[in-house]
Amino acid sequence: MAHAYIGFGSNIDDRLHYITQALRLLLNAADISLIKISSLYETEPVGYEEQGWFLNGVVAIETSLPVHQLLTLLKRIEAAVGRQHRVRWGPREVDLDLLIYDHCCIDTPKLTVPHPEMHQRSFVLVPFAEIAPDVRHPLLGQNVRTLLSNLNDAKTVKLAAPPPKIDARM
Ligand code: ADP
Ligand code: MG
Repeated sequence: MAHAYIGFGSNIDDRLHYITQALRLLLNAADISLIKISSLYETEPVGYEEQGWFLNGVVAIETSLPVHQLLTLLKRIEAAVGRQHRVRWGPREVDLDLLIYDHCCIDTPKLTVPHPEMHQRSFVLVPFAEIAPDVRHPLLGQNVRTLLSNLNDAKTVKLAAPPPKIDARM
């Protein structure tokens, strides 16, 4: 079994609804079991700034799916929840990013793990550090707590809500 950490976010309409739907599909998928979901954070958009604030969090799972199959599942869930294709870094119903998968280091056009921007984003590191501060970044060699304390990201990340309760029986 592998340990994987997935960042999730939404900044359109009923953000909590999209996030809850996506987490429900993920945690009900075969070969996935929940370890922990972070609190939800209200975060300022990064990159393309003329868009609504995000609701972001991180979920820790255990899975027997190989890393590429896990990415395929995340993309299928994004589509099922209703993600529309828009500009890169633009608004989205739901975004699921594979942050870390065990000690796996992959860099291909379709999949880069660890996620190449995770260590530069407070909207990822704040919820990640809440649930798994001791996880080590396999390329940088530092744990999530240290990555966060060394980060110089001026973007606002505000605690917004407790971890969503997901009915994993559906
Ligand atoms: P972004 O999350 O960068 O704003 P998208 O969610 O639209 O953009 O993803 C664009 C592509 O990034 C996906 O089609 C996927 O193949 C690729 N990708 C590469 N590495 C990862 C990863 N670690 N997690 C999720 N998607 C990834
Ligand atoms: Mg993405």
